[in-house]
Amino acid sequence: MNILQKKILTDGEALPGNILKVDSFLNHRIDVRALREIGKDFYELFKDKANDINKILTVEASGIALACYAAEYFDVPVVFAKKGQHKNIGSDVFTAEVFSFTKGTTYEIAVSRLYLHPEDKILIIDDFLANGQAVLGLQKIVKDAGATLVGAGIAITKAFQPGEKMLLDAGIDVRSLAAIERMDGGNIIFRE
Ligand code: 5GP
Repeated sequence: MNILQKKILTDGEALPGNILKVDSFLNHRIDVRALREIGKDFYELFKDKANDINKILTVEASGIALACYAAEYFDVPVVFAKKGQHKNIGSDVFTAEVFSFTKGTTYEIAVSRLYLHPEDKILIIDDFLANGQAVLGLQKIVKDAGATLVGAGIAITKAFQPGEKMLLDAGIDVRSLAAIERMDGGNIIFRE
């Protein structure tokens, strides 16, 4: 069991509606010691492709800390997509619409054209994979930039929701540190 799986079991809370709350170490308070290890685990997960990755792309806010700790090990910069109002990054942007099933709303994400280029080889990192909409939006931005998507590293995949299969079927190399098979009455069961 890796550090993230251990933290989920000790500190995670399975809420009604198949929501996993990890505010105590990832989404609100950040356990930097655990994240340092998680960053290393992301590197191990994509070590075979490390030479093909020159940039990590994530989305604000919760992806940023994970992406930065992983980036330390890949020794590459991090670019994060901004959500909603993003006038401060200028109008020369790549954008995508992302539908959030958890919130029932659509929001726009944007990345300045200054920071994504056709020669870029991108690893997407995000905290959760549920219905796959956030990763799809990031994939569109990578495509629009003419860059190459090497893979998507996810901290927590809720494997009982459709996102993982949809992204794999779309040809994205999705790998997760903690894939949850089911959450039964508060119990969290990982996929073997
Ligand atoms: P997707 O686009 O794959 O449906 O959902 C990804 C985003 O939804 C994640 O970046 C995360 O912000 C949020 N999310 C989805 N499911 C959960 C969950 O169970 N717990 C938390 N904390 N966030 C979630």
